[in-house]
Amino acid sequence: MLSAKQIRSGFIDFFKSKGHEFVHSSPIVPIGDDTLLFANAGMNQFKDIFLGLTPPQYPRVANTQKCLRVSGKHNDLEEVGKDTYHHTFFEMLGNWSFDDYFKAEAIQWAWELFTGVWGIDPDRLWATVFEGDRTDGLPEDEEAANLWTKVTSISPDRVLAYGKKDNFWEMGETGPCGPCSEIHIDLGPDMCDMKNVPGHKCQVNAGCARYIELWNLVFIQFNRLGKGKLVPLSAKYVDTGAGLERVVAVLQNKKSNYDTDLFMPIIDSVGGITGHNYISKLGNKTDNAFRVIADHIRSLVFAITDGATPSNEGRGYVIRRILRRASRFGRELGMHEPFIYKLVPVVIDCLGDTFGEIRERADYVSTVIESEEASFGRTLDRGIEIFDIAAGSAQKSINKTITGEDAFQLYDTFGFPFDLTELMARERNLKVDTAKFNELMEAQRQRARAAQKNDSLMTVMADTELPATDDSLKYNTDSCKSKLLGWIDNEGFKKQGDIRTGDEVGIILDKTCFYAEAGGQVGDCGIIKSDDARFIVEDTTKIANCIIHQGKVAEGSFNIGMDVTAIVSRDRAAIKKNHTATHLLQWALQQVLGKSVAQQGSYVGPDYLRFDFTYPKAPKEEELKKVEELVREKIVADLPITWKVMERDQAQKLGAMALFGEKYGSEVRVVAVGAEDDARIEDAFSKEFCGGTHVDRLGSIGGFKIIKEESISTGVRRITALTGTGLNDYFEKASDIVDELSVLLKAPSDVLVDRVSRLIKDNKKLSKELRTASKASGSDVMTQAKQLLQNCEKIGETHLIVGRLENTRIEQAREAVDMLKKKAKSASIILGFDDDGKATLLAGMTNDLVEKGLSAGEIIKAIAPVIGGGGGGRPQMAQAGGENPEKIDDALANAAEIVTQRLGG
Ligand code: ATP
Ligand code: MG
Repeated sequence: MLSAKQIRSGFIDFFKSKGHEFVHSSPIVPIGDDTLLFANAGMNQFKDIFLGLTPPQYPRVANTQKCLRVSGKHNDLEEVGKDTYHHTFFEMLGNWSFDDYFKAEAIQWAWELFTGVWGIDPDRLWATVFEGDRTDGLPEDEEAANLWTKVTSISPDRVLAYGKKDNFWEMGETGPCGPCSEIHIDLGPDMCDMKNVPGHKCQVNAGCARYIELWNLVFIQFNRLGKGKLVPLSAKYVDTGAGLERVVAVLQNKKSNYDTDLFMPIIDSVGGITGHNYISKLGNKTDNAFRVIADHIRSLVFAITDGATPSNEGRGYVIRRILRRASRFGRELGMHEPFIYKLVPVVIDCLGDTFGEIRERADYVSTVIESEEASFGRTLDRGIEIFDIAAGSAQKSINKTITGEDAFQLYDTFGFPFDLTELMARERNLKVDTAKFNELMEAQRQRARAAQKNDSLMTVMADTELPATDDSLKYNTDSCKSKLLGWIDNEGFKKQGDIRTGDEVGIILDKTCFYAEAGGQVGDCGIIKSDDARFIVEDTTKIANCIIHQGKVAEGSFNIGMDVTAIVSRDRAAIKKNHTATHLLQWALQQVLGKSVAQQGSYVGPDYLRFDFTYPKAPKEEELKKVEELVREKIVADLPITWKVMERDQAQKLGAMALFGEKYGSEVRVVAVGAEDDARIEDAFSKEFCGGTHVDRLGSIGGFKIIKEESISTGVRRITALTGTGLNDYFEKASDIVDELSVLLKAPSDVLVDRVSRLIKDNKKLSKELRTASKASGSDVMTQAKQLLQNCEKIGETHLIVGRLENTRIEQAREAVDMLKKKAKSASIILGFDDDGKATLLAGMTNDLVEKGLSAGEIIKAIAPVIGGGGGGRPQMAQAGGENPEKIDDALANAAEIVTQRLGG
C-alpha cells in the first residue's frame, strides 16, 4: 500500500516526467493580497500570471498547495466531521500550464495517472464537462467532451455535462475563471448517506457520499470583472486541483479520509489524550468530535505557522473560531482543560517533512494555541452565564424560543458558538430563532465584505497591459529624469490626452527613483515636474512591475511622452534610517531574546518604525535596555551596509533571514549590515532578504530609542522606536518638559527627580492629614467642649457637663471627654451628637465619682433606649448609638436627671 508521502511525490514526479517544474506551496495566509483571507486553491499564487500582470517563470508547474476553506466563497467548516471527505485544511495537488498545453494534455495525463500509474479501476470513474450557460452567453465545452473519448479510454456514457454551479470555476467574485472538467469516483452503494432522503438517486453531483469529486481540471480562458462581466483572456491556462486526502483514501482503500495515514496518527493521539476510542462511524457523536479535532488542529498549525494569530477580526477571527470549535468538541470528549496544543507534535510528524515551516515554528504555534484554549475556557464559562439569562427570558416567552438577537449576541460578543447555544437550548426544551440569527449573521458578513479592501483597481487593470517601470534608481538617487507613459484614473489606464490642475491620478513613468510601498516600508512622496507643471506625489504603489505615483496635479498640465523630473521628498532620508534600524533591532532582539524571535510585520515610515515579532511573553525592562544598547553600539561603530542580488538558495545558505511565509522569487536581494564590501557579505552580522532602501553607513542613523513595547496578540509583541530626526524631536520635547519643570520647581534638572519624589511624599502625607482633620475639625470640637465646661452646672465640688456637640466624629468626642475629665478634675460628662443621621451618646465619669458608685456604663444603658438604640461600656467611659438623632436632647436631659439624683442634688 502506498503511503500518503509516496502518493504526494508520485503525483509530482509524474508531472516532472511531463516537463513540469515543482514549485513550493504559497503561504496559507496570502501576503500582499487583501482580497483573500486564506489560500483556498492552488491557483491563488498564480493569479497575477493569469491576469497577465507577471510573466510565468516556467510554462509548466506542479505543486501541492496548502488550502484553507473556512471563509468566503469556499467554506467547508460546517461539513467537517459530518462527512469523511471535506476538510478545513487540505492539500491540493495541481499541474499547471501557463499558455502552454491546454485541454487535451490535461485530460489525457489525469487519466493516465489515475488509471495507468495508480491503477484505479476505470469503471469506478466518471468525468464531467460544462454544458454552457445562457445568461453568461457561454457555450457548452464540446471540446472537452470530445477529448474525453478521444484521448482516454473512458466509456462515452460516463462523460456527463453539468451547469455553472458544478463545472465553471471561479476563484472569487472577480478574477480569472473558466469551464472545468472533473473526475468523480463511485465508492459503491454502501457509501450513500442519503438513503432516507425521498427521491434521492445516487449519481454524480447528487450530493451523496457515494460519488465524490477527486480532481478538477480548470481551463482558464476568461476574466470576470466587477458586475459579473466576462472577458476572454489573451492567453489560456490549465489549472488543476486534486485533493490529496481524497486520493490517498482511494489508493489506500479506505472509506474515509480520516482512516488514512494522513489522519490516523492524529486521531490516535486524540484517543491517547482523552481516553476515548475512535470507531470511524459517521453520525456517532464521539467519532465526530475526533474528526473535527483532527481536522482543525491541522488548520491551526498551518495558519498560525504562516502568520495568522487568533484575534477579533479578519483572519484572526476565523482562526479563533476554528480553535473554539475544536475546543468545544473537546468538551464532548470530556476535555475541560487546554489539550489541543498537545497535538502539534503529531501534526508535525505527519506533515513536517513536506512542509518544513511547521517544524520550525512548533513551539510558537503550541504557545499560541494553548493560551487561546485557556482564554476560551474562560469565555465559555462567561457565555454560559449569559446563556442562562437568555434562556430565562425564553422560558417566560410564549413560544419558548431564544431570540435570534440573543443568540447572535452570545456568538458575536461573547464568542459563544451557535451550535452550543442550540444544543443547550435543546437540553432545556427551548427553541432558537435560527432564521433571525442567520439574518443577523448575513448582515454582519455584508458589513465585513464592505470593509474589505475592494480590488476594483486590480480588476480594471486585469485586461490592460500595464507597462513595467524601471525603478532600479531608487537605490541610488533621489531624483531622475523620466518620460511620462500614462496614468491611471477611476476608469483605468490612459495612454492619451492630458491631465490638468486638480486632477487626481496615478502617474506612470518609464523609469523612477520613487520607492513603492512594500515590505513594511511606506511608499515615497515627492514631486514630478516639468518646466511649468507640478504633480504632488502623495504615495507610491505597485501593481505587478508597474510603479504608480499617486497624487494630484498642483499646477499646469501634463501629457503623454512629456519629459519630467521625478524628485523624492526629503522624508526618504528618515525612512532609510528607520529601515536600517529595523534590521538592527531584529538582530539585537535575537541576540538578547534568542532565535524564537521572528518578524511578523513591520512599519517603516519617516516618523517612526514599528517591528512586530513572535515572543511568548513581555520582554523584561533590562532586556529591552540591552537591545537598545546593542543597536546603539553598532550605530556608533558606523559600520557599512551593502546589498547584493543573488540566488535564493545561495542567500539561504548564507543564513539570510527571510520574512516568514513571504513569497520570494528565485532571485532575492540581500541587505547585509557590517560587511565592508559585497564580496565579503558573509562577514555581515545581519543579513536579511529585503527590497527596501537603506543608509550607507550606520552612523547616519544618529541614534535609537525604544519608546513603546506592547503585546498585539497572543505570542506577538510590538516595538515602536525612533531614530534620526524623529528621535531628535522626541528628545527636544522631553528636554523642554524638563526645562519647564525646572522653572516651576525652581531647581536644576539633576535634582528634579529627588524634588518631585519629595513633593509626592509630602503630598501624600498632607492629604492623609487633611482627611483626618476634615472628618471633623478637631479643634472646633474641643472649643465646643470647653464651652460646655464653662457653662456647666456644679453639684457640690463636681461638674455636671451635659450637652450636644456639632460636626464631630466619635474619635474627637472621646478626646473631648478625656480633655474635660482632666480639666474639670471631678465631673460626670454626657455628650450627644448626630453622626451622619445616627445618634451617638458618650458618657464619661472621673474616678472620684466612680468610687462613689457612679457608672458611665449604667447611665448609657439607661438612656440608650431614648434614642432607639443600645450601648454600654465601662464605669469610666461608655457609649451608645441609636436611630433617632432628634431624641438626643431628651436623652441628655434624662441623663442629667439621673446623675443629679445620684449625687443627691
Ligand atoms: P466538493 O464539491 O467536493 O466540495 P469542490 O468543487 O469544492 O469539491 P474544487 O474547488 O474543484 O472542489 O477543488 C479541487 C479539488 O480539491 C476537489 O476535486 C477535491 O478533491 C479537493 N477538495 C475540495 N474541497 C475540499 C475539502 N474541503 N477538503 C478536502 N478536499 C477538498
Ligand atoms: Mg466544495
